[in-house]
Amino acid sequence: MPESSIGFYGHVKQYHNLKAEIDQAILDVLESGSYVLGPQLTKFEEELARYMKLQETVGVNSGTDALLLVFLALGLGPGDEIITTSNTFFATAEAIWLAGATPVFVDSDPKTRNIDVTKIDAAITSKTRAIVPVHLYGLTANMREIAKIAKAHDLFVVEDCAQAIGARGDQFAIGELSDAVCLSFIIQKNLGCFGDGGAVATNNKDLATNIRRLRNHGSSKRSYHSIGYNSRLDDIHAAVLRVKLKRLDEWSERRRQIARLYDQGLAEAPMTLPFTPSGYEHVYHLYVIESDERDGLQAYLNSKGITALTHYPIAIHQQEGVPWGRAARFASLPVTEKSAASVLSLPMYPELTDKEVEHVIEEVLNWAANREALSHQAV
Ligand SMILES: *Cc1c(COP(=O)(O)O)cnc(C)c1O
Repeated sequence: MPESSIGFYGHVKQYHNLKAEIDQAILDVLESGSYVLGPQLTKFEEELARYMKLQETVGVNSGTDALLLVFLALGLGPGDEIITTSNTFFATAEAIWLAGATPVFVDSDPKTRNIDVTKIDAAITSKTRAIVPVHLYGLTANMREIAKIAKAHDLFVVEDCAQAIGARGDQFAIGELSDAVCLSFIIQKNLGCFGDGGAVATNNKDLATNIRRLRNHGSSKRSYHSIGYNSRLDDIHAAVLRVKLKRLDEWSERRRQIARLYDQGLAEAPMTLPFTPSGYEHVYHLYVIESDERDGLQAYLNSKGITALTHYPIAIHQQEGVPWGRAARFASLPVTEKSAASVLSLPMYPELTDKEVEHVIEEVLNWAANREALSHQAV
């Protein structure tokens, strides 16, 4: 790798920046002897609820389980259809399937890449029970429209907020217009622990109580059980997340600054840049451009020591290895399929320096200026 190589994630730099505080928090947990369902988890849940401005949060062991346990707690399962998007990380649909329900995919909006709210109505059947919008790349979906549709058809709304903690809609907050919000704390997310973690946030106390039971072997009282799971957020992770949560808004602001540098630097480049509707506050979990020559650009950047990845090059309805197959009922999803063929995520994390961002921009522009010559070289 060239000396000036730029990786895709900043979590080790982030750890080094907070090392003294994080090390101390972890050592305190080790000395405390309380590692599971202990005081750090309780404190983190309180602080997270305050941050989300929602009454309850429940820490679980991943974003995937946050989704699964919400579906189960809402009574969703076999025979039910849940509307979601195909342009997302696989876990969104996987959790629907694991709950026993069937995912129904709606195409994405050509501008925002979030679920196309104008196409939801057509996907609703007598079996539809819920809508699961994903706040893709850190941009909130159009929750106002989704809430309206859900109300008209008596559907639950569960927000997959794995990529968008800290984001806001135009005059609405995440969690304000839904039954529950699902968060992921896997290390590469905007708020990440040192491994896997997740949480559910909601204003529905009964739902939270149910999920507390489900995450702990169906138990709310020692020795009394119904069937549940082992899906708790460990106290070591909770302690780390408490240290990081205090910095989250600052990090989101830095992500927006970096996005502005990319927006300005790449304004004339032959590619589609991320779009933020007015009034929305993006948290840029990822900075995703689209180009018809994506593979060439990705290879060029990688050859220059800049890691650019694809989110997601195979949409969920295009996956071969899934039980719901390529059944005809999943209508073609042209916007999602075009994204899958053209998305490229540039390095985006708060620890990037302006100089590094400028270097990425420079190399993208170099590629753009020389791409014909480069593509001939490649053949
Ligand atoms: C990361 C992610 C998940 C799953 O979260 P895990 O903590 O990895 O289980 C679900 N949905 C989306 C959109 C994600 O990005």
